[in-house]
Amino acid sequence: MADEAVQVAVRIRPFLPREKGQRQIVTVQSANVLKLKVLTTQLAGPPQEEDKVFSFDHCLSSVKPNDSRRDEPHAPPITQEQVYEAIGQNLLSNALEGYNSCLFAYGQTGSGKTYTVLGHERDPGLIPRLCQNLFTQEYEELRVSASFLEIYNEQLKDLLNPQMKGRKPLYVHQHPQLGVYVPHLTEAPVGSHDECMALLDFGSKIRATSQTNMNSTSSRSHALFILRITFPIKDESRTRIRNSTLNLIDLAGSERVKKSGAAGQRMREGQNINSSLSVLGQVISKLAQGKFKHVPFRQSKLTYLLTDALSGNSKTHMVAAISPALSEMEETLGTLRFASSVKKVRTHAVSNEQ
Ligand code: ADP
Repeated sequence: MADEAVQVAVRIRPFLPREKGQRQIVTVQSANVLKLKVLTTQLAGPPQEEDKVFSFDHCLSSVKPNDSRRDEPHAPPITQEQVYEAIGQNLLSNALEGYNSCLFAYGQTGSGKTYTVLGHERDPGLIPRLCQNLFTQEYEELRVSASFLEIYNEQLKDLLNPQMKGRKPLYVHQHPQLGVYVPHLTEAPVGSHDECMALLDFGSKIRATSQTNMNSTSSRSHALFILRITFPIKDESRTRIRNSTLNLIDLAGSERVKKSGAAGQRMREGQNINSSLSVLGQVISKLAQGKFKHVPFRQSKLTYLLTDALSGNSKTHMVAAISPALSEMEETLGTLRFASSVKKVRTHAVSNEQ
């Protein structure tokens, strides 16, 4: 059994047009260290500046030179391919060794979670690149299936069968051998990268989205793309079966409701999202302190589903997505603090080879 820490990467996205000309407050100091300038306003006198230094497994900046007022030298922006090399390759090789694996992307709306996890057609993110590499593996009899699930206002929706024809509501279940999963969720067999992309595309279009002041395409739901991989390993004496589950999760925006200016129906959504993310915060805080009793996993669908990813049989990665701009300082500080506590969480992965 491998007892190991959750791997945490932070990615700083480029300045958006609405942030152009702003001061850059986060800078990468080295592959593992980044610095955040925290500015606090005083009743009288100039704002006070304090440098906060954080260390993570990967600090990745995609800020473009000349996009901001900055006072430090600049490394070339990290590309989608380099993000895949830092995180995706490792995720895929863990899964191919038979370890359940999980990636979750955390950050405020507009911080680059979806860009990092899904990307654009012309510049694909982690999931498309991982699928591409999965299907170029030379394993005979590789079998892959995909599920796509949304958690929206504490309800589960099968994004590959959104009508839920003739079905009871989905629920989360913990099985002594299989771990935590969603019974009856569609598992579509996939035989190629293109088939995987078609399912991702289908489900992404169905995903509930709602406009907020922060970002017109911001998603107010959590999305889980789940790949199950099985293949035989044959040697002279016997055939062993390797299987693993890869959970790839794009979380809803972590910002607090007041800032997004949401109201009415959206306000209710906002509070719900925040409540499941705040349960996630409580779970992480307990685990980070080494307190394993009364961890409130079951208090939200999201944390129930993440039970294994955060404490059980899984090798887990987190990407924290942040903006480089001064206007987002509070949310960025919140995200970096959360990412630091996730770094203290340990999981206990066991290879599923039989
Ligand atoms: P989130 O999923 O966190 O709400 P998005 O992934 O939608 O945020 O990103 C917000 C905006 O920033 C989008 O227009 C996206 O294209 C852009 N963006 C994010 N990260 C990058 C990046 N590394 N390079 C270029 N554009 C990016």
